[in-house]
This record gives sequence, C-alpha cells and structure tokens, in this order.
Amino acid sequence: MERLNKLAAMAKANHCGGVLITEGENLCYATGFVGLEGMVLVTADGKGFCFTDSRYIEAAEKAIAPWGYQVIQPDVSYPQCALQICKENGIDSLLFEDQAMTVASHARYQAALEGVKLVAAGEAFSEVREVKEEIEVERIVAAQRIAEQALEEILPLIKPGAVEREVAAELDYRMARLGSTGVSFPTIFVSGAKSSLPHGTPGDKKIEAGDFVTIDFGAMVGGYHSDMTRTFAVGYATDEMKKVYNTVLEAQLAGIEAMAAGVPGSQVDKAARDIIEAAGYGKYFGHGLGHSLGLNIHESPRAAKTYHRELVQGNIITIEPGIYLPGKFGVRIEDMVYLAADGKRNLTLAPKELRIL
Ligand code: ZN
Ligand code: ZN
Repeated sequence: MERLNKLAAMAKANHCGGVLITEGENLCYATGFVGLEGMVLVTADGKGFCFTDSRYIEAAEKAIAPWGYQVIQPDVSYPQCALQICKENGIDSLLFEDQAMTVASHARYQAALEGVKLVAAGEAFSEVREVKEEIEVERIVAAQRIAEQALEEILPLIKPGAVEREVAAELDYRMARLGSTGVSFPTIFVSGAKSSLPHGTPGDKKIEAGDFVTIDFGAMVGGYHSDMTRTFAVGYATDEMKKVYNTVLEAQLAGIEAMAAGVPGSQVDKAARDIIEAAGYGKYFGHGLGHSLGLNIHESPRAAKTYHRELVQGNIITIEPGIYLPGKFGVRIEDMVYLAADGKRNLTLAPKELRIL
C-alpha cells in the first residue's frame, strides 16, 4: 500500500485528481511488477487501478492485488478505461509522465480523455523515487553481490593475450548464472590506451602486460540495477600509473567522506575534484562525480558541479571519479553509497587498492 499512498500524495501535492502511469519503470515502481505493460491509474484519494492484458493478467493478479490495486483485463482501450475511472471518481485532471510518454501516446490519451486535463508531472516521479525504501536497497545490494562475485570469478582470465570482448562476455555470463536478470547497461571493458575512453566498448583488442583494464558494469535483481567500476593493472604498473590510480582513489574516498544528508551534490563533486585538480589532472576528469540509480541506471540526485540540490536520507549515489589521459590510459573507481537512517553505508564491498593481476 505504501507505493499507492505515495502516488496518491503526489497527485494531491500537484493539485490533480489522480496519476496516470503508462511507462516501464514507473509502472514497475507503482506495482512492484517487473516488465509490466499496461496502464495504472491512482486517484488522489488512494484508489489504485491496474489495467493489463492476457500476457500478464494471471501473474499481475497475484503480485499486484496485494499492493492495494484492482487488477483488470479490459475489453476497451486503455484511454477509454482511464476516462471511465475519471468519470466514476469525479476526476478532472491527471498527472502524466511528460518525461517518458511519447507524443503519440499523449495524443491518444488526450483525445479520449474529454474534460480531463493532462498535467505534466515534471520531476515528480523522479523525486518520489529518489528516496529508497529498504526493499529497493536490498535488491540493489543483491545485484551488487552478484556483480562482485562474477568479477572475482573472471579476474584470472584478465591476462596478456586475452581478448577484451571475450572476457567481458564471460563477466556478463557469470552474472546471469549467479541470478542477474540482465546487465545494468552494456558492460564497459577497455584496456591499455583504450582505457582513456570513459565509456569505451569491449572490442577485439588483446590485453597486454602493462595495460590498465577498466571494467564498469552492473547486474539486475527485481528490476533494480547495480553499478561498479574497477581498474586493474596487468603484469606491472609504472610509477605514473600508480600515481594516477592513487589520485583517483584518494579523490573517491574524499567524495564518499563528503557525502551526507544536507550537503549539495555540487559539494560532494568538489571534494573529489579538488584532489584531482591539486594533483594536476583536473582537465582529465570531464564527467560528473556520480548519479543515483534504481529502476533506471541513471536517476537523480546526482553529484556534479552544476547540481546544487541537497542530498537527503534515503538517497543512493555512485561516487566515480576518473582520470583519462588520451592515448595513454585511464582510471576510474566507482562505488554505490547509501545515506541510511543509521548512517552512511557503502554498498560496494569489492576491494579497491591497486591490484596487479
Ligand atoms: Zn558505472
Ligand atoms: Zn555509474
């Protein structure tokens, strides 16, 4: 019932009679049902309706009804159903997902919903999803444990002569075997000079002694993503590689240290960035320090130069500074950190001192 109440409160806060939900991750957030297709309508006074089709109805009745929803397989179109609910409940305005709904879909609903105003939800959905519930944190942690175990299993494969693409595929496969329902995003696996590409893709390149290997990847459990980056040296590391690695690590620890409820995202970013700048690598750290995640891999809040909103209890953000020297190598280290009621919790357990494989 908690989600239903949150969505009803969202409608009220925005002076609307209800909330209309038709898009993937928000449908999942509203109902807890991963992969649901259909339409959810929640009234401001807390009634929930979930419309879906024969592919999902049996499972949906079992999974969604306990969340307080009436689950219905309609024989008219979803926009017609929405109109009927609005009429029955005296609703003349609905919040809609302007950041996710297509223009075509909006036009269909608008045409059917005579006398009902569709009001853009703006940040309302992302804001309600920013504060994680315990069950959401548990899923992210479960995904992260899978990712960590899979990484440990493939470390012996990272050696001179191994092909990036093959080792990356092995990592994805191990995560699936350990219970991940999919990768959080296409696994980033880059070695040697390619490691200066923050979001490079694995290719036919063979790993060589003296390479840095950067792996950025995640598993999924119950619709929730994990996200972690580790950089390893193969065979040996030069003094320059060690210096860059340790600078990134120091920056990462400073970012984690700075993270707290009441602190603006820009200040967390600055804590890490200052260290990289002081070491003379400022211009080689181009991206923001971190982002939240959950049902999507990138959610708000963020830790970035231009993000001035304060973090609050219940937020999870990644702390992922990097230094990328074009044509040479790059290093990134990424953990997920949770601002829990009982203090800050690093959800990532994988070691991060420089490991030479
Ligand atoms: Zn990542
Ligand atoms: Zn990330």
